[in-house]
Formats: sequence, C-alpha cells, structure tokens
Amino acid sequence: MELWFTEYQTPAIGFSCKSTSTLRTEKTAFQDLAVIETEQFGRMLLLDGMVMTTEKDEFIYHEMISLVACNSHPNPENVLIIGGGDGGTLREVVRHPAVKQGTLVEIDERVVQAARDFFPSISCALDHVKSKVLIEDGIKYVQENENCYDIVIVDSTDPVGPAIELFSKSFYANVYKLLRDDGMLVVQSDSPYYHPEVVRMAFNGIKDIFPLTKLYLANIPTYPSGLWSFTIGSKKHDPEQPCHTHQQGCRYYTNKLHEAAFQLPVLVKQIIGNGE
Ligand code: SAM
Repeated sequence: MELWFTEYQTPAIGFSCKSTSTLRTEKTAFQDLAVIETEQFGRMLLLDGMVMTTEKDEFIYHEMISLVACNSHPNPENVLIIGGGDGGTLREVVRHPAVKQGTLVEIDERVVQAARDFFPSISCALDHVKSKVLIEDGIKYVQENENCYDIVIVDSTDPVGPAIELFSKSFYANVYKLLRDDGMLVVQSDSPYYHPEVVRMAFNGIKDIFPLTKLYLANIPTYPSGLWSFTIGSKKHDPEQPCHTHQQGCRYYTNKLHEAAFQLPVLVKQIIGNGE
C-alpha cells in the first residue's frame, strides 16, 4: 500500500510526497512534531503538519537566510538566531569565517532533540565551539538584552502559536534595541504567492522600524508555492552588496546570486508597495 504525506499549504492547495515510514510523532509542549522518511526529499521534519526542513533541500533555505546578512555586514561577529531548532541556520552561521559566536534561542527543546536524533547533517553544529544553544522564548529573550548583536535571524515557524508575536512591530522594535548601531535583522517572511498578507505584514513592520528594508527571494521546492521570501532590516549597511566573498561549500548561495535575489517580480513589488 502506498503512503502519501500531504501538507495543506492553503485550504485549496496540497503538497503531497510519497512517504516510506514514520520515524517519530509527538505532541510537545508547543506543537505537534513528526519526522517522516520520504522518497523524494529523504527525512522530513514537520511541525503542526507543515514542512519545516528536509534532508534534500534544507541547504537552500539555510544558506539564504544566513549568508545574505553575514556576507553584507562588515563585522558579523555576534549572531542571534530565534527559532531554528533544527540547527541548519546555526550551521551556516558558524561556518562563516567572520562570525565569532552563533546563539540559538529555540522555545521547544523537543525540536532540537529530534534534529539531533534524525538529522545529523543539519544539526551538526549544535555543539560547535562557536555555538551557544538556549531553550527559551525568543520574544522574552530579545526584551531582556540590548545592544549586543550584529545580526539577528528569525528562523521561526509561520505566524501561528508561539511564533505569532515574532511577526509583530513590538518584537521588531525590541530587536532594533538588541542590535548594535550597524546591525541587521533578517526574517523568513513566507510565500508571496500563497500568503502575501504575511509578506506585507513582515515587510511593513520592519520598514517602520529600520532605515533600510529590503526583500529577497529563493526557490525552495518543499515550501508553499516553491517561491520563498526573506525580509532584511538594516540600521546602516546595504544588504544587497556583499562585502565578504564567503561561499565556500555552498550548494545554492553565490555572491552573484546574493545580488540577483533582490531583483523582484512586479507582483512581489506590488505586495510590498514598491510596484511599478
Ligand atoms: N524554516 C522553517 C520555516 O520557515 O517555517 C522554520 C524552522 S524552525 C524548526 C522553526 C522553529 O521556530 C520551531 O522549532 C519553533 O519551535 C520555533 N519557535 C516558534 N516560536 C518561537 C519563539 N517564540 N521563540 C523561540 N523559538 C520559536
């Protein structure tokens, strides 16, 4: 008998992939967690029925959410990651030669454990000498610290459950205070095709706080519609211009692609109010 997993990316669109086995299902204190084996994408981490990361295409998202900021900030020594419990973003951050410390603040320790148990290629940097892993609410964490990070990366679930406030203006304002005077914030800002309202909320929320706000895109096969957006707020430096050439070991990111990722289709410009 064939087994298929389907993520309902909208009430009218399903993303299905053939699944060969279920490796873990559990209800954590925050969400439903599952790990399944799939033919096309290898192991897949699901939270509340949504694809978080897969062995086969995780590198696209993790390189693009990490390296655009790390390569366009002249001195990205101290980087904070909110969420990101699978460890993929942390792996890319601590791989960057200019980074001195990557701090991960993940609310659900069961996500970190599942990553350690089933995704060694993604979670491999959790114990890296440059890594620090804290299990707590990122919303609280940014309220209790100031002026100490060069880059903050919000690698969160979509605005549901504990992540709702991670898309709020008050959270962005707290991150602004947490950042040094030339710091950058980058967030995953969802699918322009299926969730333009989330893209608009994140972009406008950050634009109201940061002097320089830009959006860039990547193609991620297992994310809703395959076209994914990231929004970056900067206090000083232009995120479109890489000032580091680090791309060694990357399978998606290049310095040229870094600049090209900010070239937006008209429909995306219209979502963020830069329409022609
Ligand atoms: N790449 C995925 C995406 O774009 O949807 C996100 C992957 S990562 C697994 C998302 C993580 O954010 C989850 O592990 C979740 O527990 C965490 N998270 C959600 N709200 C949080 C909060 N308030 N503080 C810290 N972590 C949070």
